[in-house]
Amino acid sequence: MNEYHVSLQPESLMTHMKAICKGIGPRPSASEKEKQAADYVEKTVRQFGITNIERQLFKTQNSPGWIEIPCLMAGLFGIAFAMVGGLWGKWIGSILLLSSALVFQRFLFVIPPFFNKLITRWSSQNVIVKVPAANQAQRTIYLAGHLDSQKQRFQFPPSPFWMMKIQTSLTVVAGIIGSILLLVDILSNHPTSLYWLALLGFLYLYGLLSLIYDETQPHVEGANDNATAISVLLAMAQALRDQPLQTTDVVLLFTGSEEAGCTGMESYLKQYSPSKENTFWIDIEMVGTGNLCYITRHGVSYLSTYLPHPDMVAFAEQTAHKNPHLRVTGKDMVIIEEVANLWKRDYKAICIAGYNTDGVLPNWHRLSDNLSNIEPATLSRAAFYVWMLMQEIDRSNSS
Ligand SMILES: [Zn+2]
Repeated sequence: MNEYHVSLQPESLMTHMKAICKGIGPRPSASEKEKQAADYVEKTVRQFGITNIERQLFKTQNSPGWIEIPCLMAGLFGIAFAMVGGLWGKWIGSILLLSSALVFQRFLFVIPPFFNKLITRWSSQNVIVKVPAANQAQRTIYLAGHLDSQKQRFQFPPSPFWMMKIQTSLTVVAGIIGSILLLVDILSNHPTSLYWLALLGFLYLYGLLSLIYDETQPHVEGANDNATAISVLLAMAQALRDQPLQTTDVVLLFTGSEEAGCTGMESYLKQYSPSKENTFWIDIEMVGTGNLCYITRHGVSYLSTYLPHPDMVAFAEQTAHKNPHLRVTGKDMVIIEEVANLWKRDYKAICIAGYNTDGVLPNWHRLSDNLSNIEPATLSRAAFYVWMLMQEIDRSNSS
């Protein structure tokens, strides 16, 4: 046994893991199972004797497919119009291709599309738990972890993994190139090669069919992604009840529908508008196997990079340096998660994640993301690191 609170030890963390992965199972975004995970969190935190619990209900889409598929359909229709519709067809095609590229690119920064109202037809929830500081609070740490789990998705990420950034970037680039080709055609009266349009059309069709196929896949157990985060957050609740931070309130933010486009975090920030001045945000993703890192660069395409806040990188670096036994390092990762919502609003945020021997997210969006592939010792090490990181921020006098 070491000096860390019992709740941060492997046995205690694995109790939550079993309850979430086996007791509840796969947790599709905005589903009854996701709600059951929210209920489990609330019940468990109440058992710890913590009563400052709030539930925020919000409307969301239940799959990223509600944005990705219309984007690819717009591109495909755009090309079809351009090929058969004469001058007007080319104008419509150019506009559709450009819109497709822009909406898709914004989605890579989790910005809701212009047709958001049409697709947010499901109910989801965030569970918000507050553990106050021992003394007068000078700042707030937010710990985020999502409740839902994704489908198995062969395009997100594709195999091999290195294709992820190329493929995702291509979706945006194809729309822009197609749109420009058609504009040149219209303005110069020089017919665009049918060959290029056909090639683009083939790419869109391939992308569209692949995405539709992914929508038919089963939901994964989501042990690593992201029952590990729920377990770590619950462990923090229990430990903080006994050993609250000195001058830092902690808000545990169990978010809904992250997998559908980070809509839980988006709804929280919209409704509550937390201060940017004295808040520190730590998102936890897939920390149950392999190696651990704080992410130094995020994004799933070359056109959608986002970064952690430098202040948070400094805290994460110091914590890793002071605790070499926890073996946490800074690392660029191919990932999209809730730091994106925070980054675009200039919050001080960072993500703690796991990676495998290939340097990528382990078992990401595959059926192999199940409880049997979780290493309790790694999960516990992640909990120790998050605990030490919170202590570092609490001691810092920053606001
Ligand atoms: Zn996740």
